[in-house]
Amino acid sequence: MSGSAPLRLLLDGSSLVANWRWLAAQAPGAACGAAIKADGYGLGARDVVARLAQAGCADFFCATWAEAAALGELPGGARLAVLHGARAEDMDQARASRARPVLNSVEQVARWREAGGGPCDVMVDTGINRLGLGIEEAMGGALAGLRIDTLMSHLACADEPDHRLNAVQLTAFQALRQAIPAARYSLANSAGILLGPDYAFDLTRPGIALYGGVPVAAATGIRPVAAIEAQILQVRAVRAGDAVGYGATWQAPADTRIAILNLGYADGYMRLLAPGAFATAGDRVLPLVGRISMDLIAVDARNADVGEGDWLRLDFDLPRLSVRSGLSQYELLTGLNLRFERYWN
Ligand SMILES: *Cc1c(COP(=O)(O)O)cnc(C)c1O
Repeated sequence: MSGSAPLRLLLDGSSLVANWRWLAAQAPGAACGAAIKADGYGLGARDVVARLAQAGCADFFCATWAEAAALGELPGGARLAVLHGARAEDMDQARASRARPVLNSVEQVARWREAGGGPCDVMVDTGINRLGLGIEEAMGGALAGLRIDTLMSHLACADEPDHRLNAVQLTAFQALRQAIPAARYSLANSAGILLGPDYAFDLTRPGIALYGGVPVAAATGIRPVAAIEAQILQVRAVRAGDAVGYGATWQAPADTRIAILNLGYADGYMRLLAPGAFATAGDRVLPLVGRISMDLIAVDARNADVGEGDWLRLDFDLPRLSVRSGLSQYELLTGLNLRFERYWN
């Protein structure tokens, strides 16, 4: 990259690795994998894989074959599974790839068999009603003779530890494990790991918590990974009573200085984030004023000695922003797009 973008995503590789190790330690009997779909939840899947593989992570999960191709050659020993399985139009790539499809339907299983089979993963739906074979289909012989590496299911309500569906899905998955031979069994996402050791099985599949999301209060060991910095494009003086931004929704209560930052909703900094949002310059807090535009925001700089070309850090505390905006931590992270220049430490 050229190093000239006015918007930075600062990524903390040691916190990423520390989060993976912490999640692994919560399920000591299981291997700990990593969900890297959506380009590593917006942080850059190749960079994530390189760091986690070096730390010892050997199992990665992406969504599509396009994502698998974009990863290029994986580090030695790393395995990749493609969660959306194998559509008819994926078969050439799936057959040629070292990655395994996660077969999700009777049709996908038949397609894989007809093409010659080979190691694969299988998703069985135990209650989220999203992707996966039904329990009856899986138990009824649809999988006979298949060389299953990992048999998996996905929890619907793991981020609500008291939800009754967690135990229902666990019981169903335990029965599947008795009935269907596979090398490994996997149920838990980030929040699922924190439901306790019964949910760990052989392999866990955390995503959001690796990247600094805090899916449940019990995830006490998770550190932030991503921080946002935007450059000041202009500083302007406004008089008491002057309005700032679209809709003139904010009027200066006194004469002040406004810094205009290169960040907006087209960068994933959604309009819903405005109430309570702020930037910082060292220990100075600069509250956001007015509406968030497509590419710009304004902050009140009366208390900070900042000027054109300076960089400000935006508040990007995922749990707090999520509660305040109603956007999920997943949406907040995956919304950060390619106009950011990524810097890993
Ligand atoms: C996305 C995903 C995960 C990771 O979920 P998090 O909630 O981000 O930890 C695990 N398994 C499957 C099947 C997924 O789709």
